[in-house]
Amino acid sequence: MTINAEPLRKVLELECNKGYADSAVIGGLDRFLRNWAGQAVESITSPRLLNRFNKLRLVNSNYASLTKEQRKEWINSVLDFLTEVEHGAREKGEANLVPAVSQPPSGARRQRTVASQSIDSPITIIRGISLSLATKFNKLGVKTVRDLLYFFPHRHLDYSQRKPVSQLTEGKEETIVANVWQAQEIRLGGRRSTEAIVGDETGNVRVVWFNNPYLAKSIATNTRLVISGRVSLFKGRHVFESPEWERLEDKELIHAGRLVPLYPLTQGLRPRQVRKLMKEVVDQWGWQVEDFLPSGLRERCNLLELPEAISQAHYPEDDALKDRARVRLAFDELFLLQLGVLSKKRAWQEGQPGSPISTKTPLLEAFLQSLPFELTPAQHRVLKELLANLEKPQPMSRLLQGEVGSGKTVVATAALLVTAANGYQGVFMAPTEILAEQHFSTICQLLSRAGHLEGQEDYLHSYSGFLSRPLTVALLIGDITQTKKRELQRRILDGDIDIVIGTHALIQKEVEFHRLGLAVVDEQHRFGVTQRSALRQKGFNPHMLVMTATPIPRTLALTLYGDLDLSVIDQLPPGRQVVKTKWLKPGQRASAYAFINRQVADGRQAFIICPLIEESEIIQARAAIAEYERLSQDVFPELRLGLLHGRMSAAEKDKVMRRFRSGELHILVATPVVEVGIDIPNATVMMVESADRFGLSQLHQFRGRVGRGQEQSYCMLLAQNPSEVARERLDIIEKVQDGFQLAEEDLKLRGPGEFFGTRQSGLPDLRMAKLSDVALLELARSEAEKLFKKDKRLEKQEHSLLSKELARVWPEAGEWS
Ligand code: ADP
Ligand code: MG
Repeated sequence: MTINAEPLRKVLELECNKGYADSAVIGGLDRFLRNWAGQAVESITSPRLLNRFNKLRLVNSNYASLTKEQRKEWINSVLDFLTEVEHGAREKGEANLVPAVSQPPSGARRQRTVASQSIDSPITIIRGISLSLATKFNKLGVKTVRDLLYFFPHRHLDYSQRKPVSQLTEGKEETIVANVWQAQEIRLGGRRSTEAIVGDETGNVRVVWFNNPYLAKSIATNTRLVISGRVSLFKGRHVFESPEWERLEDKELIHAGRLVPLYPLTQGLRPRQVRKLMKEVVDQWGWQVEDFLPSGLRERCNLLELPEAISQAHYPEDDALKDRARVRLAFDELFLLQLGVLSKKRAWQEGQPGSPISTKTPLLEAFLQSLPFELTPAQHRVLKELLANLEKPQPMSRLLQGEVGSGKTVVATAALLVTAANGYQGVFMAPTEILAEQHFSTICQLLSRAGHLEGQEDYLHSYSGFLSRPLTVALLIGDITQTKKRELQRRILDGDIDIVIGTHALIQKEVEFHRLGLAVVDEQHRFGVTQRSALRQKGFNPHMLVMTATPIPRTLALTLYGDLDLSVIDQLPPGRQVVKTKWLKPGQRASAYAFINRQVADGRQAFIICPLIEESEIIQARAAIAEYERLSQDVFPELRLGLLHGRMSAAEKDKVMRRFRSGELHILVATPVVEVGIDIPNATVMMVESADRFGLSQLHQFRGRVGRGQEQSYCMLLAQNPSEVARERLDIIEKVQDGFQLAEEDLKLRGPGEFFGTRQSGLPDLRMAKLSDVALLELARSEAEKLFKKDKRLEKQEHSLLSKELARVWPEAGEWS
């Protein structure tokens, strides 16, 4: 028996004759089509025809909603399709449409024989996914069959425990298996609904489905139903209100009576529809996903096979398997991430030989001796780690974390000095000009104690006493004159300058080095990976030290900066004071201003951070100007205020900072985007507006701007109308001073995207892995390292699938090798 195209052709021709009024068949063309197409689709074997069939959306047609013109056009293309089908059948002497019954589409593991279809094909190849449905899935980021397989439910409802009707408990989510005694349409609150009485051997219970009168007709008396949902009480009796339900038949349950997946939905996607579709897709396609993990590793780590994990993640048999599925999929994410960062590291270390630097130099000892303080044990330890690393022929790639004021700069300066003693140049890159300037003057100050200032020009200092010739330190920032810049660039190229401090200007093309040995990057989180590699390409494969004052929780550090080795200065120099932190209610604003007035009267200075405005920098600047004027005129008319915002030129910013540092200004009003990471020991008050909108780490960063001198310092946080989470944050920052602890809290409260600012995070999509999965992360890392030891380039046969998968999730990996 062959499914005949003829009835459809007849209907369509009739429809044309009747003027496309959707009157050819009773019940409308769409219904007719669905019936016809539902049977036909099983039988189409030619991929080309199947493709056309899908494009025409015969299964999911929407004829009724088309305009007359569209109807005409659509019918014509369907007629063309039918002609082709009939033609093809005659030509090959076989039917393209063969009876559905002759194929055994039995159960889960039916193989599609069509070669051109793979799990990377668009989802429209899936039966039942029309273009319009595909568009809705696209909105959720689902484009290919693989995407759909990885489109996991955000959670499951546990409807797996069945109860006898007599034991239902009000207020609980319960599942029963019951017979339908009667079902009828009723009106509830004026809406057509369905009411049913169902029961088992222990009793009966009423079930209502609001707004769903059609159900009454489809659940006949004696139908066996599985019903899952919350049990309510109505007039003293139990009732299920709009529960999930499903007929108890031979097939597997998907909506009730089990762990039921809840999928993320978008407009026009219905839960039951998505569940049904997902079940079909998982059953039909899930097993075609190749398991890319080497089997030895998988067994060692006791992980589920990939197809099994995918299936259990959607439709778990039980809780234990659901968890194992998550573990397997999370492991994949973390493992691939680790392989990604390790290949990055490998590329970096193998690119060219590095420049081993001898650290046995009397210079170092002299420098340390000349410091006005003893290094803390943490600084000593980290310096040792750095030096050991510099001596290696492989270039260093190290992340140095340490709180604001923990003394990273001194350690970096020591490393730069050792580098210079070896005849190599060093760069120190800061995120802003002000900071670059500050580093320049700090480093010069430190050097002037051990050496003698010999020459001093703008942006250039030279010291005797270190090398056989003068040691030169230069500042290269964007806003110096062209002539000066060119001169500096020439001297850098000549090798005449030993240490260059600057901003992004340092990684521009014009800057070339004579012999770059060490690059220090301050405040890593502002530098993307690309900028890091641009700096590397300055040649000579320099050692690299990346510094950050934003404490990064260990899990994130391993994830994001897994290509870097880690050093931590986890100790502040002795005698650091605790900055008193207080979250103020809006009503306390006036007293906060009064407090600032008193501090200024005592000779201190204050920062005021303007409200956060998430619009353009122009708008932010405008708001800052308004706030500055308000404060100058209405609040602190007697005091001298300065303003700092992102639209000011570097020179203007610099001028304001200088005036503030010299004490000429009492209060510095700044936008939050402006880096105020500069040392003003006399500043004792940090007032932050809209503090509820900042993360803990950022607030901690602001707070770190004060308390750098002898006087007791204060941090005042203002929040107009904080949300619950924000309140929690404000409570925490009041109590906790430790940056690492705050970072962990921040991560917990806000997630990694916000922790870093989504744009900069560069964090790959982690759906199953949580950054709190420390144990799993460590496992993934150690397995990735093991694998790398065996097969660095994943060239072995048994790693070919893995290598393919890595290229798929980390396409940038290609750039690294
Ligand atoms: P970071 O860069 O980590 O924020 P800095 O290197 O700028 O910190 O150091 C902050 C301040 O602490 C500087 O004034 C520095 O001279 C001083 N400092 C650094 N190390 C020590 C130490 N071991 N003992 C006392 N003061 C120190
Ligand atoms: Mg610093």
